[in-house]
Amino acid sequence: MSEPREDTKSVCPLCAVGCSVRYDDTSGRARGWPGAPVNADGELCPKGIAAFDVFDDEKRLTQPLVRRDGDLEAVSWTDAYDRIEREFWRIVEERGPDALAFLGAPHCTNEENYLFQKLARSLGTNNVDNRARLCHDSTVSAMEGRLGSGGMTNSLADLAETGAFLIIGSNPADQQPVAFNSYMRPAVNDDAHLIHIDPRANATTRLADTHIAPRPGTDELVVALFVKTILDEGLVDEGFVADRTEGFEAFAASVREVEFADLAARADVDAEAVRAAARAFGGAERAAVVTGTGIEGDGPDDTATADALLNLLLLTGNLGKRGAGMNLFRGLNNEQGACDAGALPHRLPGGRPVTERAAREQVADVWGIEPPSEPGPTELDLVRAFGREIRGAFVLGENPAVTKLDRQTVARGLDTLDFLLVQDVTSTETTAHADVVLPAGIWSEKSGTVTNLDRQVQRMRALESPPGAARGDFEILCALGERLAGDGFEYDSPEEVFAELTAVNPQYAGMNYEAIGTESQRWPFPDGANEGTDVLHRGEFMTGERRAPFVPIPTAEPADEGTGELVLLTGSRSGDVATTTMGSEVGTADDTLAIHPTDADARGVADGERVVVESADGHIEVIAQRSRSVRQGTVFVHAGVADPLLGAGRTRIRIA
Ligand code: SF4
Repeated sequence: MSEPREDTKSVCPLCAVGCSVRYDDTSGRARGWPGAPVNADGELCPKGIAAFDVFDDEKRLTQPLVRRDGDLEAVSWTDAYDRIEREFWRIVEERGPDALAFLGAPHCTNEENYLFQKLARSLGTNNVDNRARLCHDSTVSAMEGRLGSGGMTNSLADLAETGAFLIIGSNPADQQPVAFNSYMRPAVNDDAHLIHIDPRANATTRLADTHIAPRPGTDELVVALFVKTILDEGLVDEGFVADRTEGFEAFAASVREVEFADLAARADVDAEAVRAAARAFGGAERAAVVTGTGIEGDGPDDTATADALLNLLLLTGNLGKRGAGMNLFRGLNNEQGACDAGALPHRLPGGRPVTERAAREQVADVWGIEPPSEPGPTELDLVRAFGREIRGAFVLGENPAVTKLDRQTVARGLDTLDFLLVQDVTSTETTAHADVVLPAGIWSEKSGTVTNLDRQVQRMRALESPPGAARGDFEILCALGERLAGDGFEYDSPEEVFAELTAVNPQYAGMNYEAIGTESQRWPFPDGANEGTDVLHRGEFMTGERRAPFVPIPTAEPADEGTGELVLLTGSRSGDVATTTMGSEVGTADDTLAIHPTDADARGVADGERVVVESADGHIEVIAQRSRSVRQGTVFVHAGVADPLLGAGRTRIRIA
């Protein structure tokens, strides 16, 4: 593999690892190259290799569409923009800006997400969100509250130095395969201990020294068992606890009060296996937690498992140093960047609360207009309010008609809007309800930056042009900004927008688009520094404090006993090709439901039977597959199929 020309280099859009890719003329597939920022040996997973294959050009939207007399008709860009301007302003004048909703996309670049939230806030509303928030709500909430940031505390490169991994609620071997194989597997092959806590055995489990499959909803109790073992056996990092933590005595006293055997029984785990795993974690010089959506609680306030993991890391001195930390492995390619750019209803660019006056004033200094101070509703609540408080919506590369809540409910909501604008690359279930559809660009037609799971900002480059009259998202958002908000959207390039983002986002201050080049810059990137920050929370936490608090260990009973409900686990496999960019799902998704034979028998479900699965938010039809790979009390469904079932936090389902 030789180094390709700079203008042919881009970033894989298919997961948050952020591997570098280019188009290979010979094979017609994606390839990497040696020396890339993340996939340094040029490696790609099967999904990444197919990154250029997943879109069928025949299905592309190539002309703006406007609904007239019930039908969508092709029109000029000017006609489409005229209609959007008229309808948005009518809603703002009649109902106020909070009657609008802006649903953004973690598939879009930092600059596109920045423009999207700037447009919403310039019109006077914080009603802007993106689906990244659904995925890690409670974990990010716990990390922000105690550490001051929800960002991955360490870098992927750090993990090669780890002596013990605790992977919980995450399956990186399948879902972030290049990160797992390039950074974690070598450490394990070099004798690092790998503990996998997951109700379902999967590809990550195959490399594990210990697999613990607790009763659903009891992850926090298993982590509490780790903590109790470390306290009982003198494995506490006393220097770190004395210097960098607070509340230790009360915390230790609360741990002493609980019985090890009682916790183990409630979690239904082998006490001795857990004790041995805890010794391996507590005895390692560098121990890291790697986690994902599987530790999410019942909403943003249910932070029990994330809090228990932070206790464990504080107790063992595994924050603020290499090879350690709380490493949140995100899924979608620009989840981190969409949040960094401020596409959230409660956070401005850089993660500062909209309620913080100083943060709003800093933004106002650059924008010339102050963002509203009242946080907006979450994406799910915005969708629920369609046709009631929300009268108009701008949907950017999302497909809420099939990916949010119950399909019929969302379809009804979309129909009751006074005006729906959808910007996407193909016709979808959502464009079928739209009043205006704008044809946008796919990932390989985009220039701009994206931020991967370990906070590296890299540049994507447009490798081709959109077909027909379609335009890139950046160009469309600039034009809509000028039409709807007036001043403040006259940008010639993503580079200009990135420069503005670095002025309003303190984490990105000091970064430079040109200097990123074909490398990466990692936030926080202090102004004047030569490089970004690999390890967060050295010296002081991002709260600005030297110490982080312990919180009490959980004592609640698991909530699923006796309800007849099963806990839904979701994920994908490294060979899956299910997502392109802009939120449109194409390709393959496995529509089977893995269910433990005991649970299947209790519900009279036969192997291969087609069943309807319901949650509080929606229902799907899948084929039952009896399997002992899932723990009793849980079921597994492919993420691309399970989406209508998912709300915020842990999802419980019933088989109808
Ligand atoms: Fe693309 Fe993720 Fe695979 Fe890397 S690991 S090639 S970013 S899908």
